[in-house]
Amino acid sequence: MAKHRITLIAGDGIGPEITKAVLAVLDAAGLDVEWEPHLAGASAIDKHGTTLPDELLESITRNKVALKGPLTTPVGGGFASVNVGLRKALELFANLRPVWNIPSVPSRYQNVDLVIVRENTEDLYSGLEHEVVRGVVESLKIITSQASTRIAKFAFDYARAHGRKRVTAVHKANIMKMGDGLFLKCVREVAAGYPEITQDDRIVDAACMHLVMKPEQFDVLLLPNLYGDIVSDLCAGLVGGLGVVPAANLGADAGVFEAVHGSAPDIAGQDIANPMALLLSAVLMLRHIGEGAMADRIMRALGGVLAEGKIRTRDLGGTATTTEFATAICTRLSA
Ligand code: NAD
Repeated sequence: MAKHRITLIAGDGIGPEITKAVLAVLDAAGLDVEWEPHLAGASAIDKHGTTLPDELLESITRNKVALKGPLTTPVGGGFASVNVGLRKALELFANLRPVWNIPSVPSRYQNVDLVIVRENTEDLYSGLEHEVVRGVVESLKIITSQASTRIAKFAFDYARAHGRKRVTAVHKANIMKMGDGLFLKCVREVAAGYPEITQDDRIVDAACMHLVMKPEQFDVLLLPNLYGDIVSDLCAGLVGGLGVVPAANLGADAGVFEAVHGSAPDIAGQDIANPMALLLSAVLMLRHIGEGAMADRIMRALGGVLAEGKIRTRDLGGTATTTEFATAICTRLSA
């Protein structure tokens, strides 16, 4: 029997190509795993009549860990976001995005090393929208002390476990005095139990300016759902874009590790997508399942390929295909 069983969602668009590349790297690194492949999103509708089949949810609940490629979500209508549905169904309340400069990846800033912790289950993503009268729509922003306290504890526990020194809560409590005010109050209460970690806060607009001017001043950022969504993409942009940052959605029982970029329909099927974000997410996953040494080896192999500078995908200024990039990493792993 394999040491690990992991649910696999290859996803849409470039999903299958980058997943294939990442599985090749994990295989070359010697991961002893049995993958359980599942469909989700548009591709699951034909076979299962739903975008989020029960078999998939059961598989993740059983295995407690999944690797997921990007899924296409229709804009302004059509089915609800599968990504959001997955987070809700499995109570994956924390979105974790470490953002740091990967050596040899071109970026506007150096010395960025921060971690974004985003609340994943409520806020304006509760999906509670209705038309009050014609031409007037109300979208409800839900903030609860239960979810705010839970995510704050997650952020401080993460900071403690990873030797981080400061947690900055990001909010707009000067305007949303009740909703964001409650979030902030919960963060401050939780912070009292972690005296060795500094807690401060910034208003979201000012935080964005400070991130763009001097990102190296930040350590752990803790945000409610919507600000977290926006600020995490902003931070990805600081270090080279969505193609080079990993993400994890974590709950008390399960973790889903995914690339944060989308399904890139414009380049799908051409073997030119960069598999790095999914690979970095797989590296986070390896650390999560106790395969830290393997994660380190993959990071060294990836670093070696990037430093050599010969084999890069188009988005990083090279001409290599997805397959060539993955093969170069595999070759280093087997050397
Ligand atoms: P996108 O991230 O798919 O693409 C934006 C741009 O970045 C495109 O030019 C694309 O070619 C490029 N790009 C993205 N990933 C790349 C990679 N790995 N290598 C090289 N280039 C890459 O964003 P979009 O076009 O706004 O969204 C397309 C679809 O993906 C939508 O249906 C959207 O809902 C969905 N989406 C899914 C997720 C997810 O599953 N987590 C996240 C974001 C968007």
